Amino acid sequence: MVDNEMISDYTYKDIINSLAQKLAQAGFENSYWEARELAGCALGFNCRGKFDPNARANFDGVKSCALLLARRLTHEPLQYIIGEWDFYGASFDVGPGVLIPRADTETLIDAAVRLKKDNDKLTVIDLCSGSGCIGITLARVLDCKQVICVEKYEAAFDYLKRNIAKNSAECDALLADVLDESTAQRLPQADIIICNPPYINKRDMEQLQKEVSFEPAQALYGGEDGFDFYRAIVRIWHDKLNENGVMIFETGADQSDEVMQIMIQAGLSDVRARRDMAGINRCVTGKFLKKEMLNLYDKLEGV
Ligand code: GLN
Repeated sequence: MVDNEMISDYTYKDIINSLAQKLAQAGFENSYWEARELAGCALGFNCRGKFDPNARANFDGVKSCALLLARRLTHEPLQYIIGEWDFYGASFDVGPGVLIPRADTETLIDAAVRLKKDNDKLTVIDLCSGSGCIGITLARVLDCKQVICVEKYEAAFDYLKRNIAKNSAECDALLADVLDESTAQRLPQADIIICNPPYINKRDMEQLQKEVSFEPAQALYGGEDGFDFYRAIVRIWHDKLNENGVMIFETGADQSDEVMQIMIQAGLSDVRARRDMAGINRCVTGKFLKKEMLNLYDKLEGV
């Protein structure tokens, strides 16, 4: 019998090369990078830091590499397999039942920082919080009095609580439905209401990338036309904003115009779209202006 604690003949380098080859053969892009991530996870070394490529793996590690590779070959997201992912320079636990933080979503953080960096003691509400990556990051990068992360689904809520603890963040987690008006009534007025809602429409849900189909449909599906959450959230939540407060949404490709209209019709001002790094309008922001300012605008329009 093989003692699994025994050291094999395979070096980390051999294992990474062999995983990369199998991934490339199966048509995965970035196969070498993925192989390093999988091997690092299976063998317990930090593949993003410095490691000895000539160190030899034990049999347990080799077996665990094979298991992780088999999972990845089913197109299970790399992030679920590894169990954590980076967002805006911090790490978040992820797994089945929670949306994986995406680099595109960092556009929302940049928007919030640009709009509110000079303010202090902010009250922030992060709706459809999921892993908590948005609220937890804002708690770190802005001067906040209170950050409340609202999530409806238990599986995601568990990750939210774990990530608050993991990041030692000063955030409150609330298990509640953001589409329920009583949730809004229970919460304080806010300076920032921010949300990455489910926004994929019915047609696109039928042709999701294989990896994305592993993620919870309730975090993706935004109704027949993809706009259900924007309409409801703007209606229910816009008057929870303090004067000069901002509402910030993530939007899917080609959705920003419609979302801007929804916000303008609800009376929000200075409504703008912002691009992500790929040049796609990924974020829409709107302000709840002071009443005197609105009167001034009305007067100007009359001129
Ligand atoms: N950005 C995700 C995707 O297109 C969707 C996330 C969402 O619906 N909020 O895969």
